[in-house]
Amino acid sequence: MVKVPCGNCHKNLRPSKIYKKIQAKPYCKDCYNKLFPPKLSEPKYYTNKELEKIYEEKCYIDKKTGYYKFKATKKFVHKWVMEEMMGRKLRNQEVVHHLNGNKLDNCSSNLMLFKNQTEHFFWHVEQRNKSGVW
Ligand SMILES: [Zn+2]
Ligand SMILES: [Zn+2]
Repeated sequence: MVKVPCGNCHKNLRPSKIYKKIQAKPYCKDCYNKLFPPKLSEPKYYTNKELEKIYEEKCYIDKKTGYYKFKATKKFVHKWVMEEMMGRKLRNQEVVHHLNGNKLDNCSSNLMLFKNQTEHFFWHVEQRNKSGVW
């Protein structure tokens, strides 16, 4: 079987172990991630006006959840807006909350991020204690 050395650590790689090629040089996964870490992008903020255009062209309201989703990827729009705002992907546990309670209001200023569902839950408990509404 043909083996090729990683462009960085020179470990011989089977074709299935080549993670990515950059300018025809193969790299193992570890080296690739070390040499070319995923870039954080500039934070981007969306207003409802900007989002409305996106909804019209690319989204639908998911009947089951009541949230906007992208037609092509089925991704929740509020998660995408949060990712754009942070310049990184959401982690598995993270929860995006709608501040004004309107599930369809995904503008950046209406979204809040929680580390996990527990923190999200306790935030709601606290709010309810303060205001008397859930
Ligand atoms: Zn390597
Ligand atoms: Zn919430």
